[in-house]
Amino acid sequence: MAFPPPKFVTGLKCFVCGSTYQYGNMMTCPSCGIQGILDVQYDYDALARYFKHESLNHRPLDHWRYRELLPISSEISLPNLQVGSTPVYDSPRLARAVGIGQLFLKDDGRNPTSSLKDRASSIGVLKAIEFGYTTIACASTGNAASSLAGLSAATGLQSFIFVPERAPEPKVTQLLIFGATVLKVKGTYEQAFDLCREACVEFNWYNRNSGTNPFLVEGKKTAGLEIVDQCKDHLPDWVVVSVGDGCTIGGIGKGFQEMKRLGFTERAPRLLGVQAEGARPIVDAFCSGKDLVPSEPHTLADSIAVGTPRNWRRAIQQMKASSGDMITVADEEILEAMRMTARLAGVFGEPAGIAAVAGLKKAIEQGIVKSNESALVVITGNGLKDISSAKQAAGEALHIEPNIDALSHALPVLSMSNVLSQS
Ligand SMILES: *Cc1c(COP(=O)(O)O)cnc(C)c1O
Repeated sequence: MAFPPPKFVTGLKCFVCGSTYQYGNMMTCPSCGIQGILDVQYDYDALARYFKHESLNHRPLDHWRYRELLPISSEISLPNLQVGSTPVYDSPRLARAVGIGQLFLKDDGRNPTSSLKDRASSIGVLKAIEFGYTTIACASTGNAASSLAGLSAATGLQSFIFVPERAPEPKVTQLLIFGATVLKVKGTYEQAFDLCREACVEFNWYNRNSGTNPFLVEGKKTAGLEIVDQCKDHLPDWVVVSVGDGCTIGGIGKGFQEMKRLGFTERAPRLLGVQAEGARPIVDAFCSGKDLVPSEPHTLADSIAVGTPRNWRRAIQQMKASSGDMITVADEEILEAMRMTARLAGVFGEPAGIAAVAGLKKAIEQGIVKSNESALVVITGNGLKDISSAKQAAGEALHIEPNIDALSHALPVLSMSNVLSQS
């Protein structure tokens, strides 16, 4: 069955050479190769007439509310899992601890497979269906893979996931429970990635490659659309996002620009991008103004441990458009922020998500963000995704004998270890 093309999409434009292409099943720019990331273009004049405040009032609370701003055919059926419309919490105690007037947390760990990646995968599965595929594949051990497996299960697609042989068992289990075929490649992540790309061509599978697929980032964009939609008159001065490949922050920035263009807000928040000290190629390119230099990543925040980011041009373009800035944080600062966010705001995020809280704290200390400003941090993934890092941050339980005397002796020690939560 052939689906009509997305109504408001006018074409695809290359970030490197600026060439534009007709809408269709494309990955990267034919003349620039893998570097030539494509950006989906829309007819904003037509959208401005059609997509208004009032149109949102009666729509369900999920990210398909913004359907006209997504590259999906109007005749395709949507997955029935609730993607998006994740909560925004005002977090005054955490705000005081990091030294800012007002702080909001947007908990994207509340998505179906517990990370922001569901926003992208939900678009990926629909593109596969629209372009006539029955099978979709990706190479990853992380949130991209689990969300692809979950969304494929919800839409009846077959999924193949290529993981390096050393992939952690809990993550592989999450893939298998959704019915994905998991292929452990005897080699590195890069080799798994290359084999996946070759297999997609050979067997006619759709490639859900987060870094280069032009449509997936449009799904991540909905986090930005949603922030404007949810915060209304309280739109924060800064929005803080952790950065790996750069698609998330680039997508969120695009969402802000679109909401401004369509009259939903008069100003876009400034973006603060946060990378780990051991995986900072985009920060280096942002500061030097030069092309990105790949590096070997070392950080416990595995979801942002990206040495060769694909979408760095988009990330930097959006950071500049918003008069934003970038900062790096050490692993110890991430662990400290995990404790603070859990104990002072009740939100348990994985290291990559919480890196943004650590980055905000540091940006306030360095005067990049002023203490009388407001900020919203996107918590991109749930803490149960990576229990071994969480254990490093959380500490140990106390063992006691099953009698009240033993408990009485233990209590002073227990209350000591809870000091932080009283502040
Ligand atoms: C993927 C991911 C990120 C970073 O997104 P990029 O698009 O790679 O920059 C941040 N946090 C979590 C939890 C992620 O899974």
